[in-house]
Amino acid sequence: MLNNLPDFHSRLLSWYHQNKRDLPWRQTTDPYSIWISEIMLQQTQVNTVIPYYKRFLGQFPTIEELSQATLDEVLKQWEGLGYYSRARNLHVAAQTLVKENLGQFPEHRNELKKLPGIGDYTSAAIASIAFNQAVPAVDGNIKRVFARLAAIDDPVNVTTSNKRFNRMASQILYHDDPGSYNQALMELGALVCRPQKPECGKCPVSSHCTAFKSGKVEQFPQVKKRLKTPEYHIAVGVVIRNKKLLITRRPENGLLGGLWEFPGGKLENNEEPNKACVREIKEETGLNVTPVEHLTTVKHAYSHFKIKMDVYICNFVSGEVELSGPTDYRWIAPEVIDEYAFPKANHKFISKLKKWQGLAS
Ligand code: SF4
Repeated sequence: MLNNLPDFHSRLLSWYHQNKRDLPWRQTTDPYSIWISEIMLQQTQVNTVIPYYKRFLGQFPTIEELSQATLDEVLKQWEGLGYYSRARNLHVAAQTLVKENLGQFPEHRNELKKLPGIGDYTSAAIASIAFNQAVPAVDGNIKRVFARLAAIDDPVNVTTSNKRFNRMASQILYHDDPGSYNQALMELGALVCRPQKPECGKCPVSSHCTAFKSGKVEQFPQVKKRLKTPEYHIAVGVVIRNKKLLITRRPENGLLGGLWEFPGGKLENNEEPNKACVREIKEETGLNVTPVEHLTTVKHAYSHFKIKMDVYICNFVSGEVELSGPTDYRWIAPEVIDEYAFPKANHKFISKLKKWQGLAS
């Protein structure tokens, strides 16, 4: 593993204390705030998270206030951040902690892991940063750093390699200040040992790095190639009836759960998008509609697939709403559209929709 561990710790921590970014969640050890930041930072860039973090804590400054909010209020604050199960889990966990634990965070990692949305990494991050417990936190960034430091050739993106990285994390953990140490490793991965073009010349621990010393930095980390990302073609309808727009709500469990959207769905074999729009709206809502204008086409990439979405303005023709799939619906005035939380793919056409002349007439 690493020779001279005290020297490694000392170099890493003194670099961290001199170079760490001044991030809002670094100014607190309040477990609630650390929890919110760690959940938001999952799969999301720091610069994207900062304004969301500030707004979220402004709206829900305590766990009690989060527990008392409605799911719609929570999702609205999360809107655009993606991976919405994170917001739903926060909400449920806050309600559980207030109901069963007087709003107090459990300090032990294993207790934290019982809460929805808190797994190995997040429980370790909260336990070490908020409660200074000596537990290693290993996320994708830290795996990359470890892979280079110890020239580990196990792919970093397969779960079977977790054991090896976790073992290394436990072996080189700094027990005297685990919170700062875990954050120092994360910061090293973010600022110096970046995925592309690591700045080894500025690295405080290059004297401990096997990949650097053997001139093989480019070979690490190893990554198992994934299959090509599938792309789906979707047709969506903005159904207008008496100047009101139909929106439907996605089921709470699953992708984009609990968010509102305009109804629609995937094209079936060789189907034309306008026909798919009519069919999907009939299947999801029971309404008969007629597309009158193609508003736009938008593209959006999710983590495991991409979509191309054709959006139609549709006139209501007949029928009563009978939902199959969505859990709720509203006929809303265009002016109140911003009161609802929509997926990013819907936002890509909502600004155009607001300007569409037919809504003003
Ligand atoms: Fe990463 Fe380079 Fe530092 Fe090694 S020397 S840990 S590859 S930045």
